Amino acid sequence: MTALSAREHVDFLVLGGGVAGLSFALEAAGHGSVLVLTKRQRSEGSTQYAQGGVASVLGPDDNFELHIEDTLVAGAGLNHRDAVEVTVREGPERIRWLLSLGVELDREAPDRLHLTREGGHSRRRVAHAKDTTGREIERALLRACEAKGVRIVEDQIAIDLLTSGKAGLGGTNRVLGAYVLDRASGKISVATAGATILATGGAGKVYLYTSNPDVATGDGVAMAYRAGATIANMEFFQFHPTCLFHPQAKSFLISEALRGEGGILRNGAGEPFMSRYDARKELAPRDVVARSIDAEMKRRGDDCAFLDMSHLPKGFLLEHFPHIYATCKEFGIDMAVQPIPVVPAAHYQCGGVVTDLMGRTTVQRLYAIGEVSCTGLHGANRLASNSLLEGLVFGRRAALSAIEELAGGSGPPPHVPDWNPGDALAPEEGVVVAHNWDEVRRLMWNYVGIVRTMKRLDRARTRLAILRAEIRDYYWQYQVTPDLVELRNLADVAMLIVECARQRKESRGLHYVLDYPKTDEKWLRDTLITRGDLE
Ligand SMILES: Cc1cc2nc3c(=O)[nH]c(=O)nc-3n(C[C@H](O)[C@H](O)[C@H](O)COP(=O)(O)OP(=O)(O)OC[C@H]3O[C@@H](n4cnc5c(N)ncnc54)[C@H](O)[C@@H]3O)c2cc1C
Repeated sequence: MTALSAREHVDFLVLGGGVAGLSFALEAAGHGSVLVLTKRQRSEGSTQYAQGGVASVLGPDDNFELHIEDTLVAGAGLNHRDAVEVTVREGPERIRWLLSLGVELDREAPDRLHLTREGGHSRRRVAHAKDTTGREIERALLRACEAKGVRIVEDQIAIDLLTSGKAGLGGTNRVLGAYVLDRASGKISVATAGATILATGGAGKVYLYTSNPDVATGDGVAMAYRAGATIANMEFFQFHPTCLFHPQAKSFLISEALRGEGGILRNGAGEPFMSRYDARKELAPRDVVARSIDAEMKRRGDDCAFLDMSHLPKGFLLEHFPHIYATCKEFGIDMAVQPIPVVPAAHYQCGGVVTDLMGRTTVQRLYAIGEVSCTGLHGANRLASNSLLEGLVFGRRAALSAIEELAGGSGPPPHVPDWNPGDALAPEEGVVVAHNWDEVRRLMWNYVGIVRTMKRLDRARTRLAILRAEIRDYYWQYQVTPDLVELRNLADVAMLIVECARQRKESRGLHYVLDYPKTDEKWLRDTLITRGDLE
């Protein structure tokens, strides 16, 4: 791996090395120079942690119409049907592509994949590699990139997109590349490109509790917003009901299968509480369970809830949940004798940077693919295991479009200025950055979480405006660090979520607001935000 030079120029600059970015890179390789940048180690991103699998029409009793219908039902009327159609119809070919790259998916016969069924799917259609599907896909994609000579440089943080507007080049505003910070040296490079591809994943870290890895700080959405791209539907954030609550566990998911096998949710006083919220109790749908846990924690002021499996035989738990049992044990929790502390956790960003069916954003030469994008596939809620599929389908589509766009070559490097550090001082107030990180995440958890009120949203907006002004001052005064870059993005993304949520005066899909508890057909449209709307 060669380090970045102070100035780099390539045809395709791909920011992110998850399923979406690597799918793009593999398709574009051979059609021009490709440079993939990752914020930390190359495999670190949500893709690596995906457990369940990839949804696609592969079974004998399944068909495209059923998968389309299930996706539309989950999305509560807001999906764009054309995006659903292309994703579903191109799915089987994308799975065959993965197999051709050597991805080892589980099989029930040598010529037949084993398919599981997940919540919301009317058929068995989730292809998987045990319960570590994402790791297997990431492994194979990275190996294929290596074989094709795709250049991947790790530990590089894109700070901001370079635009012709900001560079004073005139003409229609277009993206020219990005400023990139090297984690180790602190040096900032200028990476210019014919096409820039955002594949930076989601923004789970904007909330105090999340299943997402540390890299998920919404950098792509924030950078795209600042570059003038349209952002949509950020109010739809999916929460997983049960993440392990332990200071060192960070983001370990406790599978929904535990509730399926008889797990009982208890509050801090040890009382079962689900019957008070839903007749289906622990077996209610994911969103209902997440909302109930949240309500019970808020009602009592508890830090967490508990999932009790201790009434089941230890042998059964060891046989069915060996990984969860062992991981809890590592944290000093023996689930055979004590309840597991759990909290709901931010899991998936359904909204993002608006794109068309070829991954093109509203700004020229800027593409967005994977979780950072809003293609219209998910609408107001994501159907389980449709997101890896979306990365595979739109990674390829965006590459086809970018290849065509650059068919005449990407030309000489544009004239853009070096990063100007001005009079920036060496960072000395690390505590300010750490404090604001914590404040944004806590504020979002408490005021803009699973159940919302207009009053709490207004309160969050007021606080975020102060925080953003403070962060902006700090940003221009001190040299940039990785933490500061991420904090600035988190605060921008938090504000985008709040603004989208304030606009939607109804409850739909993942957006639940007590002032407007019903779905209202009047609001059957995307929530759109462009630069300037936040200030
Ligand atoms: C625990 C867990 C389980 C899941 N299970 C499933 C499942 O079973 N099925 C399913 O379909 N989906 C699942 N999902 C969701 C799915 O994994 C993600 O939506 C998907 O992997 C996102 O892929 P991506 O390529 O968009 O981004 P990611 O895989 O998150 O990759 C993002 C990349 O961008 C880089 N990056 C970020 N910011 C910058 C920056 N500023 N500069 C440079 N690089 C940057 C990161 O380093 C990383 O390489 C799960 C998610 C989690 C967290």
